[in-house]
Amino acid sequence: MVIFGASGDLTARKLIPSLFNSCRKQRLPEDINIIGFGGSPLTDEEFKNHLLEGLAKYAAFRFTKEQWQFFSRRLSYLQGSYADLESFKKLDTALKKIEGGPANRLFYLATPPTVFANIIDLLGETRQLEENNFWRRVVIEKPFGTDLASAKELNQKIHRVLDEDQIYRIDHYLGKETVQNILVIRFANTIFEPLWNRNYVDHVQITVAESVGVEHRGGYYDNVGVLRDMVQNHLLQLLSLVAMEPPASYTGNALRNEKVKVLSAVQPINSLQAVVNHTIRAQYQGYLDEPNIDPASTTPTYTALRLFINNWRWQGVPFYLRSGKKLAEKSTQIIVQFKEPPMPMFPLSSCQNCTPNTLVLYLQPDEGIHLRFEAKVPDTVAETSSVDMEFHYADSFGPSAIPEAYERLLLDALQGDTSLFTRADEVETTWGLIDPILNIWEQDQAPPVSIYPSGSWGPEEANRMLQQDHRDWLIGSKEHIRHTT
Ligand code: NDP
Repeated sequence: MVIFGASGDLTARKLIPSLFNSCRKQRLPEDINIIGFGGSPLTDEEFKNHLLEGLAKYAAFRFTKEQWQFFSRRLSYLQGSYADLESFKKLDTALKKIEGGPANRLFYLATPPTVFANIIDLLGETRQLEENNFWRRVVIEKPFGTDLASAKELNQKIHRVLDEDQIYRIDHYLGKETVQNILVIRFANTIFEPLWNRNYVDHVQITVAESVGVEHRGGYYDNVGVLRDMVQNHLLQLLSLVAMEPPASYTGNALRNEKVKVLSAVQPINSLQAVVNHTIRAQYQGYLDEPNIDPASTTPTYTALRLFINNWRWQGVPFYLRSGKKLAEKSTQIIVQFKEPPMPMFPLSSCQNCTPNTLVLYLQPDEGIHLRFEAKVPDTVAETSSVDMEFHYADSFGPSAIPEAYERLLLDALQGDTSLFTRADEVETTWGLIDPILNIWEQDQAPPVSIYPSGSWGPEEANRMLQQDHRDWLIGSKEHIRHTT
């Protein structure tokens, strides 16, 4: 395995802790070698020490000196340039020496995206991607493009030297246990799926809320904004898993076919009127004072969207998506709100308290599931009250049951399972939904960016968008589901 950009943050924070933990669990191939490649001048020892410091900071597990020694024997570092053919020849020679014969190779692109195409080009030119009784795979970090045109261009470039099944575009959200659990809830149970459609579901809300601001990422974030940073990848991935049809099998292409199918059925927001009606953008108060932010920046740090899916299952059911920084709490959740009973059978006074059934899938923190339903209040004639049924991963499987998302994804890439990686057509379909909104937001006639207070649940306009539909934003937490309006 070769990691490009190995001196960087992702390698120390996520990749090495995940690989090391898999090694401790005896899940890594025994004969694996991990070669860090980068421009920084590092010896093997300096590289290992840097990674060990990272483990002390970022690893969520305790380990012994012996375990580290066993793992770190597999690590080495090679200095080179991402733009220099000679460096890639040197890499090939070094790999052949380590391998001592035909061997599989996994290349991980943990560099800024500006050099992705270059690295793949040079790997192709030095014939390191040709498969011949052994496999060659490339994991590509996000972001994959900055719009539809750049994503297509990058796809075209990499398809010159790689087949689609050699490419592993990573969105670490898909490696989270609870995201995969969406599929298990839907397709390993029979009680939910019959209700999972326009006949019973009133609407769906997907919230990815962060409590922090841009922190040290200001320079990057100001050019990107929330739609590119969160919606194009994470929120649309969640939407596709919640809304897709059951795949014929749990295999990479069957799953991804269904995801692409449902994403293609999302009604595009591609006119000024649609943008005015169905999108909200806002910036947190104080954003302009953050380091490396243009003082006149209009980059949104919050967005809310109302999406519709034009297919039989979901016709007319709104999917409300929202994501923002500096919100009241850090929480990722999907809420499926069911329709109210067709007839108010109980006396009017009690029905005023009647709340629709709601299913919450908590993705983070406190991963779990919450179902709210109505029950009779004891010692009344027919008064009802909402009660809650909860499942929390930590309670059922222990507090450290949930592994780091990268652990699963790295093992999948090594084993050739593409299910949790994004395919070319999928990434282009999601950019195709985001691009028109971004373009219309740039126009003078577009509604201006509004400002919301830090620590709030976003701008008033987002509340109004739901209130127009006689609904409210909801957030679930242990023991209750509340409005955030
Ligand atoms: P870094 O900024 O830490 O860069 C990684 C390495 O790439 C650096 O150590 C440096 O290595 C090299 N590098 C940096 N800037 C440039 C440049 N302009 N041109 C060429 N090489 C450069 O990035 P991260 O490790 O944070 O992220 C790597 C990738 O992973 C990015 O695509 C990012 O979006 C993605 N990612 C990161 C996450 C994280 O938690 N950090 C989370 C999710 C995704 P050297 O100088 O030694 O060559």
